[in-house]
Amino acid sequence: MEVILEVKNLKTYFYSSAGIGKAVDDVSFNIKKGQVLGIVGESGSGKSVTSLSILRLTPKDVSKIEGGQVLFKGEDLLKASETRMRAIRGGDIGMIFQEPMTSLNPVYTVGSQITEALMLHKGITAFEARERAIDMMNLVKIPDAERRLDEFPHQLSGGMRQRVMIAMALCCEPEILICDEPTTALDVTIQAQILELIKEMMVKFNSSVVMITHNMGVIAEMADEVIVMYAGKVAEQSLVDDLFQNPLHPYTEALLRSMPKLHSNEKLKAIRGMMPQGEMPEGCLFNPRCNYAKDICRREKPVTCDVAGRIVACWKYHKNWEASLE
Ligand code: ADP
Ligand code: MG
Repeated sequence: MEVILEVKNLKTYFYSSAGIGKAVDDVSFNIKKGQVLGIVGESGSGKSVTSLSILRLTPKDVSKIEGGQVLFKGEDLLKASETRMRAIRGGDIGMIFQEPMTSLNPVYTVGSQITEALMLHKGITAFEARERAIDMMNLVKIPDAERRLDEFPHQLSGGMRQRVMIAMALCCEPEILICDEPTTALDVTIQAQILELIKEMMVKFNSSVVMITHNMGVIAEMADEVIVMYAGKVAEQSLVDDLFQNPLHPYTEALLRSMPKLHSNEKLKAIRGMMPQGEMPEGCLFNPRCNYAKDICRREKPVTCDVAGRIVACWKYHKNWEASLE
């Protein structure tokens, strides 16, 4: 499959009086044409900062992209001009944010926000853009599209606002759609409808999707391939079936165990301990919470291992594991 976006050794750090926070620390992955890549991890693991870094939207006053490459069809977006980035954002790469009100402007009608994007990226007239916006609103199943176009964001329900966001993100037919927790704020029925809609749109526009979530259920439903993030690093990268059948990283295993089973009264098991913030442990960042940790895990950073084409950053998969001390 053709690789459309390559993220290589990406590092995004936050700076404060408390010190440096390595929100994204040496993260690499590929997005292939027509694929859904899931990014999963607990809150604070660096999922949003990773996606914002791709579009160079991390807050400039407190953070900096310190290294790496983001190659979109070979072009390094980290070196592109601001003008070029404005064409990329919403044009070649669309983004749906977790909280629609952060990207919908409350003082403009939803229609004017969609038509503005179309006029900017497609260079079409206001009249054509309005026609196109109505088509898009119909496509994402917003009833009574023509009237809704003249409403303001606050007049719509959460589910409808999320549909407007999808219409906006897709109106320019982006090659990549980044969805950051697109359904977290919605109730389960609406959630399922929105995920279904994203799938339909993806097929229609032949786009690739990055689906960011802390929910393993959403991953199971949507992803072809999965990146598991922990404390700013990739713990594991696997195809979705492999991940569920045989999680490699102890953190993935813990995430799957904590996932509520459908139609059961089983209690959700929290992963013991907390993800480190600020002060990082020596060795593997997961070692204080890991059931398998040995001396080496507490001392040295794990090397990344290739296990039958899957990638895992854990000492358990290193050839010296059996021989290493308890
Ligand atoms: P996720 O999306 O996985 O929940 P984020 O990518 O939002 O996590 O955040 C990763 C880390 O980056 C957080 O743990 C936090 O320490 C840091 N971070 C994110 N945004 C900011 C910010 N605006 N200021 C300071 N630190 C931040
Ligand atoms: Mg987030």
